[in-house]
Amino acid sequence: MKYEFSDNLNYMKSSAIRNLLKYIQQPGMISFGGGMPNPETFPIDKIMEITNDVLKNYGKSALQYGTTDGLKLLRDELVKFILKDENIKCGPENIFITTGSQQALYALSKIFANPGDKVILEAPTYVGMISSLNANAVDSESIGMDENGMIVENLEEKIKSMIKDGKKPRFIYTIPTFQNPAGYTMPLDRRKHLIEISKKYEIPVIEDNPYGDLRYSGSKVPTLKSLDDDVIYLGTFSKVMAPGLRTGYVIASEDVASKLNLLKQALDLAGDSFSQYIAYEYLKNGIIYEQIPKTIELYKRKRNVMLEALDEHVDNAEWSKPDGGMFLWLRIKKNVDSEKLLEKAIEKKVAYVPGSAFYHKNPELNTMRLNFTYADDDDIKDGIKRLGQVIAEA
Ligand code: PMP
Repeated sequence: MKYEFSDNLNYMKSSAIRNLLKYIQQPGMISFGGGMPNPETFPIDKIMEITNDVLKNYGKSALQYGTTDGLKLLRDELVKFILKDENIKCGPENIFITTGSQQALYALSKIFANPGDKVILEAPTYVGMISSLNANAVDSESIGMDENGMIVENLEEKIKSMIKDGKKPRFIYTIPTFQNPAGYTMPLDRRKHLIEISKKYEIPVIEDNPYGDLRYSGSKVPTLKSLDDDVIYLGTFSKVMAPGLRTGYVIASEDVASKLNLLKQALDLAGDSFSQYIAYEYLKNGIIYEQIPKTIELYKRKRNVMLEALDEHVDNAEWSKPDGGMFLWLRIKKNVDSEKLLEKAIEKKVAYVPGSAFYHKNPELNTMRLNFTYADDDDIKDGIKRLGQVIAEA
């Protein structure tokens, strides 16, 4: 049969990162392309113990459907964790559990924007947000970034011109801390400015913070949510426990949570009960506080190895020097298309994600994202050396 598919598909395209996977599996390939946490950080023994306890103590409910807004025990623990960790004050009624924060991005795009509406993004931005907007036929305008994240100084003018065109932005999406893909962190004054503008024009800010706990240098900057309760905050266990458990959360007003609840009933009824019990025990027993420093130690070392290798082997390019997270952003000083360059890189057995993947529109082609947390230390050195050669020959 020749199937006829819906118009919804017109906007969707497979991400460049997924398409890269086939190359990454080639023998001898050194990949800086992945976005996956290093499996060395997975607390497998602890999860094994927790899993047993969960089945013993809560088996009947852990294997049952859960409530749509998420396990109350977990939400109660998250209230304490998020206060201690990020100074965010909220109650369990403000926490909505999602199947990873990716689901939250899809759901927020759906509940806030109609097809054809516009939102404001950072350029570059998280590729999963681009997919979520495309799946909902939502359009965007972007604000550029410098080493201090979104150039908030340009935001008000952008909003004014969008309003003038009858397209008031439905929300502003930002990853202010250790941004994916760029690795930048927004300082406090810009955060305050962003909130000021959001309040003035009554445009909600969505703060996506999957990497906030992974700081290797510099000092903590308050989350937007801790500065302003109207901010919609996204957290996840993916980078501080394990992404396979697919557990994330939104912190928002009860009004927003109730709309997410309506949508989630259509998406998957409820999140994975078993994973939520595991996350609950992981928080309650303080295992998260043992795990984070171990992850930081590993990732910090790998970041340093990559930065040193870049200094040693790469000319004609500049790159971010992230204080945390998993990625850095490299810009070739010449007018080189990094998508085309990838073919040469693959020949030399090194892979990265071309920067174009991280722009909803108007990509900067001479950019690329490098993940520094996955490869072995020696491979990071070799891979950057190879990349330096590829860039030199370009
Ligand atoms: N937002 C950002 C900025 C991310 O980098 C990621 C993971 N790569 C996600 C959201 C989604 O994470 P998850 O669905 O695993 O919670």
